[in-house]
Amino acid sequence: MEHENRTAADGGTGDYNGGGNGTNPRRIRIFDTTLRDGEQTPGISMSPEQKLEIARRLDRLGVDAIEAGFPVISKGEHKAVRMIASDGLSCEVAGLARANRGDIDSAAEAGLRYVHTFIATSDLHLQYKLKMSRQDALRRAVDAVEYAKSRGMQVEFSAEDATRTDRKFLGEVFSAVASAGADRIDIPDTVGYATPEYVAAITADAISASGGLPISVHCHNDFGLAVANALAGIGAGASCAHVTINGIGERAGNASLEELAMALKCLSHGADDGRGNGVPGKAAYETGIVSEQLYDVSRYISSVVGIQVQPNKAIVGENAFGHESGIHTHGILNNPLTYEPISPELVGRRRWLHVGKHAGIHGMNAMLQEYGIEPDEEQSKQILERVKALGDRGEYVTDVELLSFASEVLGDRGIKQLVHLTGFSVSTGIGTMPYAFVKLDIDGKEFYGTDYGVGPVDAALNAIERITDRTSELRIKDYGLASISGGSSALCEVTISVEDAGGNSVSAKSVGEDIVTTSVKAVIEGINRIMLKSMMREKTKQD
Ligand code: MN
Repeated sequence: MEHENRTAADGGTGDYNGGGNGTNPRRIRIFDTTLRDGEQTPGISMSPEQKLEIARRLDRLGVDAIEAGFPVISKGEHKAVRMIASDGLSCEVAGLARANRGDIDSAAEAGLRYVHTFIATSDLHLQYKLKMSRQDALRRAVDAVEYAKSRGMQVEFSAEDATRTDRKFLGEVFSAVASAGADRIDIPDTVGYATPEYVAAITADAISASGGLPISVHCHNDFGLAVANALAGIGAGASCAHVTINGIGERAGNASLEELAMALKCLSHGADDGRGNGVPGKAAYETGIVSEQLYDVSRYISSVVGIQVQPNKAIVGENAFGHESGIHTHGILNNPLTYEPISPELVGRRRWLHVGKHAGIHGMNAMLQEYGIEPDEEQSKQILERVKALGDRGEYVTDVELLSFASEVLGDRGIKQLVHLTGFSVSTGIGTMPYAFVKLDIDGKEFYGTDYGVGPVDAALNAIERITDRTSELRIKDYGLASISGGSSALCEVTISVEDAGGNSVSAKSVGEDIVTTSVKAVIEGINRIMLKSMMREKTKQD
């Protein structure tokens, strides 16, 4: 498989303009290892079919290369790599192999023309893991590279634990594998132990030791520095970074693709605005990533691997484009750039506002307007007082509370309920799969949904989704359950958020004694609000 269309990523050899000041952006190659290092996240494993679907999405996202897996480890893995390698993707497809002929053969038999082969080079790994001398490791590395080249493969060589390897020896290894025919050198910061300064220094070493081969950096996030370290390596002349979607990977994970791609695209990297201010003027780097797809791909990976990203995660976290504080929402409403470094649309998202005790009148009114509610000044004050009082009690103020305060203050102006729960039952137990039946009345029409789930709540919510998927492509995005008081008769509080196809979301909560019924009620509340919101949006479009 040839991939001329993406090989410009390396910008040739010897082109190491670090900054972007006055020069054209330097093209950085994105090597995605979600399917290999990402899959090594504790508790994650994917079927060959899931891996293939992820590979296709990564390809559409615009990555330059995919590490599809580690073919020798299992039959399923071998099959997955084979399926991906033969799928006609436009990106390059690599597979991992230890520095031995058996692993390289396995990669070749899986149909790969590109192998990522590695051996540890730090004394710590040599002594305690490989029980091998430095010279033996060096010979193995050279033999593996020569063998893979003899099989006609493109070879990327990694010196595992490079950042804890004796610096002089690391240079010898890189020089030897370059002479043996390696096409690319990768510097893994295997346990995330390097600082940006050190990654930059050994990247420069690797460029000179290898005689100018393209250098990749493979950074781990044990100290939260993975992306910073990858940027430092790139600044020092590396042309490629190994990354994963959502930063998944062993332990604290890898450098995250979405963070790195957006930092490369948006930040100044030593360039200035022409007047000495170190703020982004002209982009220093570019990648092939279609940034508008980042959020979707992130969500897709979360759903396949079952790991949600933290809310405050950069770029793809729930809160990355959410605003509550009155000062911030006021600024945002006047000019979004005041409190958003980039526009959410650039990464396929939408901004959202939230009310709580930090809320201000402008932000709150902007939210109410989305539902077609326009209180006057005095009414606004009264609604906001209620919001703040609830926030001061430590309560989470969802859209549902905001709307009920608005209808209290505005009198009988009720919020239209489009969806009514008219029937509902669940069955659960031991030796049977939890099953739910839900009947909804949506704007006068009756709908039924039935589904199984891992538990009764899951079954009930799945059954609701069966209906809403047909009617308006609504999804239940988040679900949280808390017990309010102790004992088996405790009240539970369910908080949910519902999202529509356009990425709009609405939060709602419900309190009750029965977990399943309370969950269903919370979801119905949320669905009602989001339907109202989209009706209002349609109406404003028509006006
Ligand atoms: Mn790794």
